[in-house]
Amino acid sequence: MPAAPLHVIVVGAGTGGLCLAHGLRRAGLRVTVYERDRTRTAARPGHRTGLDPRGLRALRACLPPELFRTLLAAGAVPPERFVLLDRRLRPVLAVPLPGGGAGPGSAPELSVSAMTLRQLLLTGLEDAVRFGRTATGHRSHPDGSVSARLDDGTEDRGDLLVGADGAPSCLLPPHPAPPAAAGRGSVLIGAKVPLIAESRALLPPALAPGAGLVRAPRGLSVLLHRMELPWDRYGELKPGLPAEDAALLARWPGLPFDNSRDHIDVGLRTPAGRLPADVALRPGDDLVRLALGLDPRLHPDLRRLLELADPATGFAASAPRPAGPAPWPAGPVALLGDAARPAAPGPGGASAALRDARALVDALTRVRDGLASLDDALLDYRSAAERHSAGAAGPGRPFDAEHLLHGARPARIALAGVRGRLRAAVPGPRTNGRAAAGS
Ligand SMILES: Cc1cc2nc3c(=O)[nH]c(=O)nc-3n(C[C@H](O)[C@H](O)[C@H](O)COP(=O)(O)OP(=O)(O)OC[C@H]3O[C@@H](n4cnc5c(N)ncnc54)[C@H](O)[C@@H]3O)c2cc1C
Repeated sequence: MPAAPLHVIVVGAGTGGLCLAHGLRRAGLRVTVYERDRTRTAARPGHRTGLDPRGLRALRACLPPELFRTLLAAGAVPPERFVLLDRRLRPVLAVPLPGGGAGPGSAPELSVSAMTLRQLLLTGLEDAVRFGRTATGHRSHPDGSVSARLDDGTEDRGDLLVGADGAPSCLLPPHPAPPAAAGRGSVLIGAKVPLIAESRALLPPALAPGAGLVRAPRGLSVLLHRMELPWDRYGELKPGLPAEDAALLARWPGLPFDNSRDHIDVGLRTPAGRLPADVALRPGDDLVRLALGLDPRLHPDLRRLLELADPATGFAASAPRPAGPAPWPAGPVALLGDAARPAAPGPGGASAALRDARALVDALTRVRDGLASLDDALLDYRSAAERHSAGAAGPGRPFDAEHLLHGARPARIALAGVRGRLRAAVPGPRTNGRAAAGS
């Protein structure tokens, strides 16, 4: 009689956990995901996520092919350039970005709203994800199996438990609290500004269409990213989409759950010492107020943009975390994504989580085929996850413009700088191929 397929329990229905669940399903393994959010739309709308080619390759390997193509169709129009602006909103540097202005799948980096990514990844896993269930820890059993403990006092037992619950994972012993935010590192306060006539007019001309970073007074920088989606404010598909994209989106059952609309992603980075230590716990409207109070000399257009922000979308990201190797739980337990990283969360983190997911699917497929024991597969996976950490954002530089460009080389920036000094609009070179699909 063939052995029962491995049963994998995943804590966290986020980027990495859901990608893993798709990959395991495709490999014929059993998977159950526990998520503390109460519903699929409960999470804060979140930030823009740029998925680089490595993350997209991992997604393509794990997702059903049609779902992957739907993801490419659901991205925002790629920016044509990344512009650095001075405090008076004058452009000082412009980096052309390949594929800019064309369809979302044409650029090497796919820009998606975090809510779109979540709805996309939940599609097809509705029966595997248990919402409103918070994991609190785990215990290993003498027969080699492992149980996740849940906050309602119940347990679920499987062959492998994966912590994909962000940092710090509930599967690790409590870590001494990180130093208070005051005086250390930087904090990003972000919010979404609906893209309406007034907000559009407030964007510096160099940013239309583009993404940019404004160097403001007193160590403040402001990141602006225009997100134009394939659907309108009523959630109806916009006219003029490529026929294949329109057909994919029209039959995507996740679209009605996706409340992302055209917006400008605004993020203010400031030294942590200028904000209250509990900033990450503040509600969105409080955060927008804090952002507005950071510097009275902030350019009036930027102030007005912040005033137009939807307060419900405000978030703060500050996560001073210890450097050095991440601790790893013993037994049939693995960590994935932010839970596995010693670095602070930031750009590159989603791609690292997706690559982890693919590596773990590959390792468990070898177990399924009798080519490796679970112990050996987990050792291989851990080495892969450590390699992926090297590419993710490091402590102290989670929101760098360079990271946002995902690996732009200094020479490229220098070349673009020459063009940027001309203060001319620099159209980005176009590519016809779908980089992600072809990579
Ligand atoms: C401002 C900002 C901008 C970013 N931009 C980018 C970018 O451009 N590109 C990029 O690649 N990355 C970016 N990142 C990083 C990226 O968002 C994360 O690295 C990525 O989402 C990590 O995926 P994950 O699966 O590890 O965790 P998450 O996606 O955070 O998922 C963790 C899930 O676990 C759930 N959970 C937590 N605890 C429990 C529990 N005890 N029980 C049950 N469920 C639990 C949470 O509710 C959540 O759904 C950015 C991050 C920030 C903060």
